[in-house]
Amino acid sequence: MTSRYALQGRIVTMDPHDTVIEDGVLYVGDGVIEGVRPAADPPPPGHELTPRTATGGSVYPGLIELHNHLAYDVLQLWQVPRAFTNRDQWGGTGTYRQLVTGPMTVLGRDAALMPAVARYVEAKALVNGTTTSQGIALFSNAGARRMYRGVLRNVEQPEDPALPAATSRIADIDAADARRFLDRLSRNQRLLLHLAEGTDERAREHFRALEFEPGKWAVTENLVGIHCAALTRADFDVLAEHGGAMVWSPLSNLLLYGRTADVAAARAAGVAVALGSDWSISGSKGLLGELKTARLAAAGTFTDRELVAMATRDAARILRWDGALGALRPGLRADLLAVATTDPDPYRGLLLAADTDIRLVAVNGVPRYGTTRLMRKLAGDAAPSDPGPGAPDGRLVNLLDAKADPLVAGLTLPQATERLTAALATLPARAERGLAPFAPARPDGSPSTPSPPPTTSPTAPPSPPRPTSPRPCGSRSPSSWNPPERGRAKQSQGPDASNQPGNREN
Ligand SMILES: [Zn+2]
Repeated sequence: MTSRYALQGRIVTMDPHDTVIEDGVLYVGDGVIEGVRPAADPPPPGHELTPRTATGGSVYPGLIELHNHLAYDVLQLWQVPRAFTNRDQWGGTGTYRQLVTGPMTVLGRDAALMPAVARYVEAKALVNGTTTSQGIALFSNAGARRMYRGVLRNVEQPEDPALPAATSRIADIDAADARRFLDRLSRNQRLLLHLAEGTDERAREHFRALEFEPGKWAVTENLVGIHCAALTRADFDVLAEHGGAMVWSPLSNLLLYGRTADVAAARAAGVAVALGSDWSISGSKGLLGELKTARLAAAGTFTDRELVAMATRDAARILRWDGALGALRPGLRADLLAVATTDPDPYRGLLLAADTDIRLVAVNGVPRYGTTRLMRKLAGDAAPSDPGPGAPDGRLVNLLDAKADPLVAGLTLPQATERLTAALATLPARAERGLAPFAPARPDGSPSTPSPPPTTSPTAPPSPPRPTSPRPCGSRSPSSWNPPERGRAKQSQGPDASNQPGNREN
């Protein structure tokens, strides 16, 4: 593995001056950005012999999303049966249980499958340009958190002293608990809270409940409200006045509720906004996809540059990570995204890019996903890489990580995909048979205690799913990682369902 490299292209720094270097070079060493300079300038010290690698496009900071429920990203979009007005309405519906919580419970509790879920969803995020995500908790398996380490950053366990960990909460705050919640907010840790998800007064009540005495609010700079779809301009004024921020997930809001947060009001109030794709059940496959929805939903409110900032430096600032991430500046961690765009407006170029335009994604300087040419050049032929999801000109994924959890280490993306494909094809039978206990993995990532034998041989092609089960993620064609088809209705939330006590995660 080459720890030192130099990428040439248009460098879109997202620094405070919005510096764009049309023909620039980004120098990386030991996971850190060591220089960002015009190509005509000499290299920084130590890089005199570093060869320059042409990206043929533009280089951006890696995309940071502040809301997801990662495990659920193995499942497909849910067809929303009707428009809802708050999140308490959909958790108990029949198709939701059948297609969301049922499959997720079986997958999440199975010793062989949960590591495959972690592998698959981290790779799925990387393929969409995401380098930091959120949402590692899973109601059916409290041990799942340990499986998310290093390959894709996450907000809750960044494992880096320069990146303070945030915590998250899915359940709503009752008015009676607001004072205690304020105590929790005083811990000097960012708390991402599902807040006022929906469009009606009942949804908004969950924000109003934070006012524990007239004019006194359980809102501080540590509160990051997820969704905030029911908030009015006056509510956003309160949020801004107390330093709170929000995470916007427009596609999920639109599919579930037909309307999204009033981000124009949030902006006018001065609330800092980040983005999150929420989950595949009712949201985008990743942050690059969510940016497209945001662009449509925010037309006239945010410029393209401001939208890219939401997914990079603004998200980092909300987490207090801006000293280490969110821009391409010397001294920052080298999380980056290279895209084949030469659009005269580099911000529009990113927002219009498809998954297949992504040339390279690196986290902490480690090339994790990219074209075969770039991955071979930067990671070397010796670095084992999984075949990518079949993008036209060939892609490789590198999921090797010395810090990986033993349950996940050694599990390749094709193996994870195959395992999930077989499992999803036999989901009802698995649910009836019961669940395998968790057990330490062998070095190759396979469990020492096998899960119930699949009816499909591991080497045989997966059987088609039964009509009652979700489409197996593993049997999706690679193109299913491209932007979702327009006009497909979807819906639901699993872990968010506040009317399902078992789903509450904090
Ligand atoms: Zn959520």
